[in-house]
Amino acid sequence: RLPVLVGGAILEHHPHQAIAFVLDNSARKELEQRKDDFINMASHELRNPLAALKLQTAMLRRHLNKQGIHTAASALSTIETQLNKLTRLVEELLDVSKMQAGKLEYRRETVDLDVLLREIADAMQHLHPSHRILLQRAVHASLLGDRDRLGQVFSNLLSNAIKYSPDATTVEMELSATEETIRVRVTDHGLGIPQEQRDKIFERFYRVTGTQQKAIPGLGMGLYIVTEIVKHYEGTISVDSAVGKGSSFTVTLPKSRDA
Ligand code: ADP
Repeated sequence: RLPVLVGGAILEHHPHQAIAFVLDNSARKELEQRKDDFINMASHELRNPLAALKLQTAMLRRHLNKQGIHTAASALSTIETQLNKLTRLVEELLDVSKMQAGKLEYRRETVDLDVLLREIADAMQHLHPSHRILLQRAVHASLLGDRDRLGQVFSNLLSNAIKYSPDATTVEMELSATEETIRVRVTDHGLGIPQEQRDKIFERFYRVTGTQQKAIPGLGMGLYIVTEIVKHYEGTISVDSAVGKGSSFTVTLPKSRDA
């Protein structure tokens, strides 16, 4: 047999080992690439709001001196928006690290899902007036769980649906139930997700590699957080998608036995 040259190492007589080594190496490279992408994206995501905050604070100081109340008020609302964005980002990073350590805590309260979805849809519609959000609730469904954590599941899916679809398109959120389960489906008419990457998007820090997707800022934490919360409630999440046509995410949660 011929010696095989892999990554600078010569592996003689062991073609199986060589293949394992190649796979290992490319998986490691992919992880490293993902980490580099994450750090790069995270730095931008942190730096941009900070730059905006600095600028607006300087403006605020100038206008307060000149008593330009209107300009000052508008600077304050930009500051507030950027602070909210940073807070969300930092909270998501903390959530991910708590999830990794298995230390995320869940409250137990009765959650009316139809009410929760209405609130999320309204808040999101307010933030994104150029999309049309359609909410369909065929049932009244309640669950024993953590309202904020469950809210995170649906607002992440809805905000992705908006983020990865063009303005003026419709995003649907649909609540239904069977005897045993509650189902929420979020559908968009946007970019879609290539078949071979559909499993990976649920992994921590994974982002779809297409240029269109990459141009949209994000850190690849949302779907990981969603998946972990759904797993906590012994539910499932799945995705159906067609590139260029759109995607549909379905969350199925078992009804609480004592709800
Ligand atoms: P983020 O959006 O911050 O990158 P997520 O974990 O929420 O992170 O999503 C992971 C990746 O899955 C995204 O980068 C995006 O490429 C893809 N994705 C998620 N939701 C959608 C969607 N509705 N349509 C198209 N692509 C999506």
